[in-house]
Order: sequence, then structure tokens, then C-alpha cells
Amino acid sequence: MNQDFMKHFETQQLHAGELPNTPNACTTPIYQSTAYVFDDCEHAADRFALKDEGYIYSRLGNPTVSVLEQRLAALEGGTGAIATASGTAAITYAILNICNSGDHIVAASTLYGGTYQLFNSTLPKLGVTTSFVGPDQMEDWAPAIQDNTKAIFIESIGNPGLNLIDIEKAAEVAHAHGIPLLVDSTFATPYLLQPLKYGADVVIHSTTKFIDGHGTSLGGIIIENSRFDWAQNNKFPDFTEPDVHYNGLIYNDLESNPFTTKIRTQLLRDTGASMSPFNAFLQIQGLTTLSLRVERHVENTRKIIDFLQDHPKVSWIAYPNLPDSPYYDLAQKYFPQGAGSILAFGTVGGRKGGETFANHLKIFKNVANIADAKSLVIHPASTTHSQLSEEEQLEAGVTPDLIRLSVGLEHADDLIGDLAQAFDAIQSD
Ligand SMILES: *Cc1c(COP(=O)(O)O)cnc(C)c1O
Repeated sequence: MNQDFMKHFETQQLHAGELPNTPNACTTPIYQSTAYVFDDCEHAADRFALKDEGYIYSRLGNPTVSVLEQRLAALEGGTGAIATASGTAAITYAILNICNSGDHIVAASTLYGGTYQLFNSTLPKLGVTTSFVGPDQMEDWAPAIQDNTKAIFIESIGNPGLNLIDIEKAAEVAHAHGIPLLVDSTFATPYLLQPLKYGADVVIHSTTKFIDGHGTSLGGIIIENSRFDWAQNNKFPDFTEPDVHYNGLIYNDLESNPFTTKIRTQLLRDTGASMSPFNAFLQIQGLTTLSLRVERHVENTRKIIDFLQDHPKVSWIAYPNLPDSPYYDLAQKYFPQGAGSILAFGTVGGRKGGETFANHLKIFKNVANIADAKSLVIHPASTTHSQLSEEEQLEAGVTPDLIRLSVGLEHADDLIGDLAQAFDAIQSD
């Protein structure tokens, strides 16, 4: 469909990137094919040389996966995207695309547990190290940048403490040092926030979460806007010198999408964490209702917060749009419609109180996941962050009494009833 007809998010989430060549199919079909037929050897050679934009082999690209990539690029206001087998693969590729052994990144200390472990444990084995910086101390960011620092990495909504970072300021710090800002925006969704508008260079999502939206499939996406100049200093030779293993291509010379093209021709080719066409199909279905779901997720979250605020067994609530939140001003700027449907709070009774509460919920499922249509609960200290030491937990914002809710699409009154009876259990335990 002509892009001019698709001015609004709600239209783009259904139609952006639609395949032009699927006769009579009203819905994007699943191209469950490993490989694609070349007309002849010259045609094949052109595809391998990126002269002809077509498919070769589904590790490198697949028509169904392409629809998801282009749709999400449109929704984020980007120019291109690459889908991966999981959000974790997307983060790994985004880092390895710019860091070689001996390089370094600066990251917020408040990260998704898996990302923290990737940066703290696995990447150091490959010679890539991370300095973790407190997200609230913006003055600490510039001093943490070293000569070998290649990126700043943040989450648009921190996990699990729901902290916000001034994305524009983080981008300023990164760009003043000639390095890109990478933002994991999973908790925000492109409907609530588009980090590229605020100076981010690369946006990453675990599409497993709100984009799938129904807890059915894993996936990740990396989106770029082609604005970062990789040639401004000598920090990124892999972008500015010919790739001798790919026809001498100089990625920075491409008209658009140097970042995601390089991931496709190097990391996806050589390590293969591609998204399956079936998962792409499921996530395209998820996207069709993203705006509607997110609106209801946020509305239910507001109702639950109203209930929690008056409850005697709640000692604190973390949600950026609350007037007493330290992130209220940032929430006004970045999340005027609400900062998603994940919230954290403390129960009375410390760790035991938190565990009792989580154990007694009936509708909220005790699951190590977020952003499902179904409501979910987790006690991070004993689960998602249990591999961290107590000190590391506190640094990551995980206190023993912290309960994280991912508010779903059930009727708010039923969810509130469920929370009420679980609070009663803390007393009777
Ligand atoms: C879930 C999640 C990830 C990891 O994504 P997977 O798809 O599970 O690999 C990364 N970042 C955030 C913020 C997440 O919520």
C-alpha cells in the first residue's frame, strides 16, 4: 500500500510493510520456506552481492519476517530493522555489531536480568566489558566513557524498578563522545514512546512481550534510523573499511541502514539466531491490536494503582506517572499517556510478605514474563534476579519485598478483587 495513505500509528500497525506480491491473500502468509529459487546464476550472484533485493536463504531473510521488520521500523519512525530469534539475541547482536574484543560499553545498572548477565558475564569472556552507571546520576555517565567505549546502552523504562532515564540527555552524552545510544524499549512499546525521536540511534525490543502480546512466541527486533555517522572518528573501522568477507562492502557508504545490514551480512549469517517465519506471523497478528491493547493495559494499571495507593499493606509503589515518583517529570515528557502496564510495589512483611502475596494470587499468574494479555506477577528477588548477589540485586533496584505486576486485559474489578484477597492472606499466614 502506498505509504502516503498511512499517516497514523493505528493504520501502520495493520498495513506497513505489506507484501505486494501475495495474490489474493488478505493476511500476510507464512513463507515456510528455507530457500528461494534463483532465475539463473547471474541472478543468484546479484542477490549475494546485494544488487538484487531478494531472498536467498531464510537465515538471512524471509518474506514473512520482512513484513514484521518493516512494520516495526515504520511504527518506531525508523528506516530499517532486523528481526532475531529473541530479544536477548537482538541485544547481543546490537552490541557485537559495534564491539570487538577489547571494547567497552557504558550501561545503566538497572537492566533486565538477562541483559545484566550478558553484559556482566558472557560478553567479558569475549573481551567486551561494561561499566554500569546509576541511571539517576547523569553526571556519572560522561566520566564512565573511555577511549574504547563504543556505545551507551539504556532501557527506556528500567526493570524492575520502573526508573526512567532522560533519553535526550543520554543521547547528548553519547553523541558528544562520537558513540551511539542504544535503547531497549521493550516495556514502552512504540505506541507509548519512540526513542529515535529523542536522539536514540538504535532501538531494540523483545517482541516476545507487548508486540506478540499473547505470550506465544519469542522474538527480537533491532531498528535504526540511519542517522549516526560511523565515519566521524576512527572508532568504527568495521563500518568504514571494506568488509573483505562481503564483496568489499563499506557499510557506512550504504544509502541507508548500515547498522542492520551489517548485522544481517555478518552476525546473522555467521551465528544464525534468525526469527522463524511462524513467530513473525504470530507477532504480525499481535501488532494489529497493539494500540488498543496498550491503551487498555494502561487504563487497568491506573485503576490498580488507585487501589494499591489506599491499601494498608502496600509500603511503596513504583510507577513513573505517580506525582510522588522521582521520575514524574520525565514521565510527563516521555510518557504522557502512561508508562506502560508494569508496576512494582513493596508489601508489608518483607520477603515473606512478598512471597505469600504472590503465592495467593489466583488470576495473576506467577510467571517469569511480562506484557502478556493475561495478568502476571513475579517476586524478582527469588526468581528473575536470584542469580545476582544481594548487593547486585540492590544495585539493580531489587529489594526483598518488591512485587512486580504486569497488568493484563482482564476486567479491572476482577484484578483488584484478586489482589485484595492475596493481601488478606499476608495477615492470615
Ligand atoms: C524479556 C526482555 C528481554 C529479553 O528478551 P527475550 O525475548 O526473552 O530474549 C530484554 N529486555 C527486556 C526489557 C525484556 O523485558
